[in-house]
Amino acid sequence: MQLVGTSCNLCAQPIRFAPDAGQCPECEIGFHISCLEQAGLCPKCSRNYEEALRALASERANAAAAEIELGRRMILACGLTLLVLQLAIAAVSCLVLEAGGLMLEVGRIVFLGGAIVGLYNGLRWARRWLQFATLFAALVSLRMTAIGSQNGVPLFVYLGVLLLVGYCAVFSYITFSGKVSRYLDSWPSSGAQIHT
Ligand SMILES: [Zn+2]
Ligand SMILES: [Zn+2]
Repeated sequence: MQLVGTSCNLCAQPIRFAPDAGQCPECEIGFHISCLEQAGLCPKCSRNYEEALRALASERANAAAAEIELGRRMILACGLTLLVLQLAIAAVSCLVLEAGGLMLEVGRIVFLGGAIVGLYNGLRWARRWLQFATLFAALVSLRMTAIGSQNGVPLFVYLGVLLLVGYCAVFSYITFSGKVSRYLDSWPSSGAQIHT
């Protein structure tokens, strides 16, 4: 039965949005879920909904907690993947680079490590750090592709393109993932709590 457009049987106000609407399966009358949460009983058949509403609330809380946990794992996995790649690049660089270039590689490892520690502790700026590190790594892989094609080393070209695509995917994920945002928002130190 379509409940949007009908009136709530508890507060008599119109029901405007489908997600807010609930219906008693016994007598089929409609109401706002928020109104039923206050009343606890169906106004017509007096069916008791307190237990069902408690179960629904804890189900929602569990789903939200699971989503936050997934966001936490995903952003940390992104950071660790970048770190492993960076360690591999630094190891290869050891063979070919001078001390100056090597210092830059070590700097990037420290920078990435800082971002991972920050994200583990729910610090929002760490997401910016990781975005920056990912973009920088994408530029480096682009340069790798260019060097490979200039010097006729196909392996460098393939590897560079592969890394570029991977870095762009990681960048999009850490930038646009709602799960990651919810994870960072879940921390008491985040800006979201200031207004409450
Ligand atoms: Zn109502
Ligand atoms: Zn009822």
